[in-house]
Amino acid sequence: QVQEGERTRRKLHNTILELKGNIRVFCRVRPLLPAGSACAVAQIQYPTSGDLKGRGIELQVATVQSQQPQTYDFAFDRVFGCAAKQEEVFEEISQLVQSALDGYKVCIFAYGQTGSGKTHTLVGMLGSADERGMIPRAMDQVFVEAKALESQGWNFEMRASMLEIYNEEIRDLLGKGPPASKKHQVSHDDKGNTSVAFLESVDVRRPGKVGELLAKAMKQRAVGATAANAHSSRSHMVFQLTIAATNAATGQQATGTLNLIDLAGSERLSKSQASGERLKETQNINKSLSALGDVIMALAGKEPHVPYRNSKLTYLLQPCLGGDAKTLMFVNVAPEAEAAQESLCSLRFAAKVNACEIGTARRNVK
Ligand code: ADP
Ligand code: MG
Repeated sequence: QVQEGERTRRKLHNTILELKGNIRVFCRVRPLLPAGSACAVAQIQYPTSGDLKGRGIELQVATVQSQQPQTYDFAFDRVFGCAAKQEEVFEEISQLVQSALDGYKVCIFAYGQTGSGKTHTLVGMLGSADERGMIPRAMDQVFVEAKALESQGWNFEMRASMLEIYNEEIRDLLGKGPPASKKHQVSHDDKGNTSVAFLESVDVRRPGKVGELLAKAMKQRAVGATAANAHSSRSHMVFQLTIAATNAATGQQATGTLNLIDLAGSERLSKSQASGERLKETQNINKSLSALGDVIMALAGKEPHVPYRNSKLTYLLQPCLGGDAKTLMFVNVAPEAEAAQESLCSLRFAAKVNACEIGTARRNVK
């Protein structure tokens, strides 16, 4: 009976997604730092009643030209104010995580300027039960649900890999990297399976394993840069979990993929300040973030050509974007008045993405 209810719930969830399209955008505002300080800030307001309750955000941006600040209104599928806890945020994505077990391909992005809370949202504080982010929580859920399904004859193989894309180059965050003169070449087969040459993929069917891997990857991400924070803000980090499910009794098979992507900081770095290596970085970040936007727009517009190949990130994620896949984007926003201009840019990018509808969900089940 419990299973029947569960099946109905999932069916309903998928029906709703089909009606609404397969792309969701959630906005999350981080609290003022240091943590514990008041979280109400004058330039960000949330509608407290009506249709936009929980979905609307209003941003005031002071302009140099005019005395009066400009007000901008946005609506997303969900807006989390600065008091929102990790658990509350996870509740809203848990069905999407479930989809990956059911055989869907899922991408969850965090977009926003450096310091807006992207890494906090996706990874969080690994040692803290309350502050753990979406990746460790997603893994917990996957384990629990997989265990439950094992009693119905399902067997799961689960492997995770973690990489970063820096200056359009892939770097393995778990393995040793390719041998000299070789690269992490990305290729896709006709079944939509992606492989990245020489990329380490780790069996994660042990609770706690993912925590270890995340800690290792976060450390790796910081290596090789003068300022660790500065480096991580200029690279995309991709966590990819592949779930291959087989049912010996019924012969059913399903392969799902769950991607969680901590994007490079979206802030516009002024060209005049950047030169040499720094300028190249800036150009690559701008290019790959706008390429992601372009891919989503093209899918939404059902354009015959989707420009996946314009960046390493969109090419890597190609089978997981559009058509039968589900996408969620967190737009992370900092609450400080100084951040308002960047927040406006982030909200505008997200609003463009939010206006899109992508395909109809199809289960990748044979
Ligand atoms: P980003 O990855 O976007 O650069 P971070 O996730 O590193 O930003 O967040 C910047 C700082 O703010 C970190 O010290 C982080 O712990 C803190 N922070 C971000 N979001 C929250 C939140 N929701 N609650 C408490 N602290 C947060
Ligand atoms: Mg970060």
